[in-house]
Amino acid sequence: MTDFAFPPAVTASAAISGSSQRFPVHRIYCVGRNYAEHIREMGGDGREPPVFFTKPADAVVANDAVIPYPSRTSNLHHEIELVVAIGRGGRDIQKDRALDHVFGYAVGNDLTRRDLQQASKQKGQPWDTSKAFDWSAPLAPIRPVSRGHLSKGKIWLSVNGQLRQSADVAEMIWTVPEVIAELSTLFELEPGDLIFTGTPAGVGALKPGDRLEGGIEGLDGLRNTIGER
Ligand code: MN
Repeated sequence: MTDFAFPPAVTASAAISGSSQRFPVHRIYCVGRNYAEHIREMGGDGREPPVFFTKPADAVVANDAVIPYPSRTSNLHHEIELVVAIGRGGRDIQKDRALDHVFGYAVGNDLTRRDLQQASKQKGQPWDTSKAFDWSAPLAPIRPVSRGHLSKGKIWLSVNGQLRQSADVAEMIWTVPEVIAELSTLFELEPGDLIFTGTPAGVGALKPGDRLEGGIEGLDGLRNTIGER
């Protein structure tokens, strides 16, 4: 047994729909710019290739958690997204075999300190402080692929009962197999990896007390509240 200087952190994990087992989270990858409408609302021309960034595994937040409003921002944004959970690792994965690597699908929210992200973009600096903060990856239970793959279906997010984001997963510029294939040329994927696949248009600011409800047709819904700082 390894003689650690102090107890190692507990493995971050996510719920699995219809199961008492947990999905142990290895890494969290995210795709930026994967819906044309969202690229336009962020000031792009809708034809830019997607970008990849990451969040720490322990940024995952379970359903019904109260998420503390993060420090150092006055413009916390929601981004509802389809999340792909990887069950089998690999590198240079071929597009036509990519779905063999999927464990399941879930609804996630790529919480973003938008003000810090805009500042980083202007200076050509990394996005870690705007994307990879604590509590930044709310995730609903993962639906295993035994209940089917997911390439289309409504995706939405409401805040305090008001619809903010509404689109269809089929509108993604890069499909799930394409995202897995491309990402696996940059990183060796491992079981336990999560991939947030990008958000549709309608992102906006959150404030303490806001109640978020997000969904994707066929998946368990995502429910969180924003707490005080
Ligand atoms: Mn995003």
